[in-house]
Amino acid sequence: MLRFLEARQIVLDRVHRMARCHVLLDQALGRVVAEDLHAAEAVPPFTNSAMDGFAYRTADAATASEATPQRLRVCGELCAGQVYPHPIEPGTALRIMTGAPMPEGADTVVPLELTRHSGDWVELLKPLRPGANVRLAGEDISLGGQVVTAGTTLRPGEIGVLATVGCARVPVFPQVRVAVITTGDELVDCAQTPGPGQIRDANIHALCAQLRAFGAEARPFARVPDHRERMEAVLREALETTDVILTTGGVSVGDSDFVKPMLKAMGAEPIFWRVAQKPGGPLGFWMLQGTPVFGIPGNPVAAMLMVEAYVRPALRKLMGYRHLFRPERQGILNEPWRKGGPDGRVHFLRAVVREVDGEFHATLTGPQGAGILSSMLRANALVVIAEEETAIPAGGSVRLHLTEASEDH
Ligand code: AMP
Ligand code: MG
Repeated sequence: MLRFLEARQIVLDRVHRMARCHVLLDQALGRVVAEDLHAAEAVPPFTNSAMDGFAYRTADAATASEATPQRLRVCGELCAGQVYPHPIEPGTALRIMTGAPMPEGADTVVPLELTRHSGDWVELLKPLRPGANVRLAGEDISLGGQVVTAGTTLRPGEIGVLATVGCARVPVFPQVRVAVITTGDELVDCAQTPGPGQIRDANIHALCAQLRAFGAEARPFARVPDHRERMEAVLREALETTDVILTTGGVSVGDSDFVKPMLKAMGAEPIFWRVAQKPGGPLGFWMLQGTPVFGIPGNPVAAMLMVEAYVRPALRKLMGYRHLFRPERQGILNEPWRKGGPDGRVHFLRAVVREVDGEFHATLTGPQGAGILSSMLRANALVVIAEEETAIPAGGSVRLHLTEASEDH
């Protein structure tokens, strides 16, 4: 049977970065920039006042002091958004607000609170250095300067800078559209009351949430009963409207597990089925007319772990991210844990990890059965028990996959 890391690499080899597109700036948060972006304008675009105060010629108050204040005549007032049409004459000052363009002739702004003033005069009580409280054109970003390099993930800070330099449409790698298709006769919507033998569909919500949390566009499809023709119709619709397909349930060897035979009948190329792991053993991966299809087991714990372990890195690659994998650290397991016996499978355990004095300590979230969905609550890491390992003593060293931290490699 395939091992986890081999299977993950096979998936990654099959998916490729999508073609770039342009999006409006307000849709660009979290996207990866497809090319270096340069400033089409200097920032600030004009020299302006950094304070509310008076613009004047420094030389006019070179000898000012508390004892001998320098009085200047106030020649006018200028708010942000206005331009003063005259040069500032010697012996005069212009009342100026923060952000207003510096008038010709003046080179310094004295803040209001450092003056005495009334009506048409202002007194300066000490000399200021030339250029004090003035923001020079281009001092922040020069015209033509590079502001964002290709491959950068856009955060609010980058969005603000791009807005400032007038980049209203941004070249990025697009969001991947993902069809999420849950299967199972027993499933009802979470808003419904399950009848006898029925359960609520957890996966449609959990998986869409996972996908959205890492910037993919999740498209929940109508739930499919364990029925071949219904399955085929939904898969065909997904093929036409999305870039990647996720199915959950029906991928094992039960009598009503139709996903595999259905994909085969539709001519999908089987890449692998089954991985030596727990949970999530019967994971399948196909290419269907160029579209990657993940056949994920229905068990909600397994389903979410498979999205974390395989789907997330693959979709990040499609969306152009440089780093595909969560941080992994060596840590200490606070309690003993053992496999039922040597099984050659990698085990993914849910844990709460805390960093104490630079060491990572992991506590399991409770019973780790694949059906125990509450084991996902509070978990911020997976303890990854390697295929060959069978038991970890309390205090033993384990590999931790940090599921709340952003990718670092
Ligand atoms: P399957 O992979 O179809 O054999 O399903 C394995 C287990 O997961 C069964 O107990 C199913 O009832 C359960 N299951 C399958 N799909 C879902 C779902 N969407 N939400 C919650 N439980 C599910
Ligand atoms: Mg089923």
